[in-house]
Amino acid sequence: MYSLIIKNVKVVDGLGNPWYRADVGIQGEKIACIGRIETGDAEKRIDGKNMMLAPGFIDMHSHSEMIFLNKRQPELVEGRIRQGITTEIMGNCGISVSPVNDEMKAVVEASVGWMTPDKVPWEWNSMGEFLGVVEKKGVVINVGTLTGHGAIRALLKGFSAGVSSSEEIGRMQDFLRETFEQGSFGLSSGLIYAPGMFADTNELSELGKVVAEYDRLFVSHIRGSSETDVDAQKEIISIGEKTGCRVHRSHYEAFGREHWHKIEITLKIDEEARQRGIEMAFDMFPYTAAMTMMIAIYPPWALEGGWPEFAKRVEDAEIRKKIENDIENLVPAWPTWLPGAWPHNLVKATGWENVYIGYMPSDRNKKFEGLNLVELGESVGKSPFDAITDLMVEEDGAISQLIFGVSGDRDNDEPLRAIIKHPLGGYATDAIDIGRGKPHPAAYGTYPRILGHYVRELKLLPLEDAIRRMTSFPANRLGLRDRGIIAEGYFADLVLFDPDRIIDRATFENPRRFPEGIHYVIVNGEVLLDQGELRGIRPGKVLRK
Ligand SMILES: [Zn+2]
Repeated sequence: MYSLIIKNVKVVDGLGNPWYRADVGIQGEKIACIGRIETGDAEKRIDGKNMMLAPGFIDMHSHSEMIFLNKRQPELVEGRIRQGITTEIMGNCGISVSPVNDEMKAVVEASVGWMTPDKVPWEWNSMGEFLGVVEKKGVVINVGTLTGHGAIRALLKGFSAGVSSSEEIGRMQDFLRETFEQGSFGLSSGLIYAPGMFADTNELSELGKVVAEYDRLFVSHIRGSSETDVDAQKEIISIGEKTGCRVHRSHYEAFGREHWHKIEITLKIDEEARQRGIEMAFDMFPYTAAMTMMIAIYPPWALEGGWPEFAKRVEDAEIRKKIENDIENLVPAWPTWLPGAWPHNLVKATGWENVYIGYMPSDRNKKFEGLNLVELGESVGKSPFDAITDLMVEEDGAISQLIFGVSGDRDNDEPLRAIIKHPLGGYATDAIDIGRGKPHPAAYGTYPRILGHYVRELKLLPLEDAIRRMTSFPANRLGLRDRGIIAEGYFADLVLFDPDRIIDRATFENPRRFPEGIHYVIVNGEVLLDQGELRGIRPGKVLRK
């Protein structure tokens, strides 16, 4: 007796093997049988003719913790379900909402305010408590988390700069161990953001030792993807080499035309690291534009002490001039953690014309959404710097940006393709819909875009290989031993799609368009997307390593 049988479907197992035809029987949460199954004794049957069955996609790079706590969860996660995501890993880029303490709660909450459409009560301190709160709400898909390096550093040093003492590092190691005991899948570091950017290599290596001790993953948004790209890449590899931990670069990319050629260099470095026995790999998203907060265009010193300090600084004509001058001229240099250093000067790397206004909070300034900063300057009769800085002050810093020129541009995505097809890479979204402004289209289209555009239309890589990079690859990196593969005994997280039709429809102009060609999404044996209809159930689980 099966709860569900999928008849006569082309099975893509997630390991990269060529598809094969079979019936798949599900009992409760698990895949019970693959082969020829007599129909009759099943509660539900799906005819898989002309369709492919793949393991549910595992998005190992999301920032959705506050979305899963929000009452609008089903609506905000719909674009993820409809692109086949059945599991996602939160807590990336050094940012996690736990562990916190009473003292740091407000500071951390303010720094992740952008992750949620409306305030969510913070009813936790430890990671264990946080995961418990998420579990109590119920999740539509499976979720797990990494431990943000920024969160554990902030517990000791707030958002202040400076090298950590060995005693402080020892305490960070204890915090990290505690989160590993509570189910975290690894450590994430965001080395272009405060407070992660203030950590030196030694601090990261010492934490890497704990990652190795617990056999978890060291995930990194490295220290810059333009001028400092190669040094930053070598740094995380050195951590893997020294400590034996598995290392993972998040959203592999190069910002700005003059840095695209570095992709080839860093991919070589990765291959050489593998040969030396370092478990280096990466994820990426298939777009030549990235979304971030507009605040990221300013030098770190200008933001020290938080947003109110910045607003005061730009009132002073002399300081304001210095900030503009740094953006126009300061070339980031290694090492980037010393006082006054700057890992990633976005505008210098890509140009004002490649920075577009994403979300604008107030109604009166909505008209500027979608303009690049050169166009903005022209429309208000100011320099791009003055125009955006005045708006930032007016909007309390809460403007988002879309930045183009990331591993290619609209007419040339060759650098991006090199990353898409490299054997050490997997795919992730790095995108959420927070329910206001325009999200990055990756939140709605990443996986169908790979399968429709890069696999079917451009034939960049075989479909089975692309599916592997969405399923068993992230599962393997994370140490998820019972998901990401279609095999008996594995959890029934499944996607049923039409390989001739699957395609993304989300664009930068219209990002909330659902993809086409995905008909069923099954999470822990429950049909969540049923012939294109989303059911109001929450079959996901909170995953703990
Ligand atoms: Zn990141």
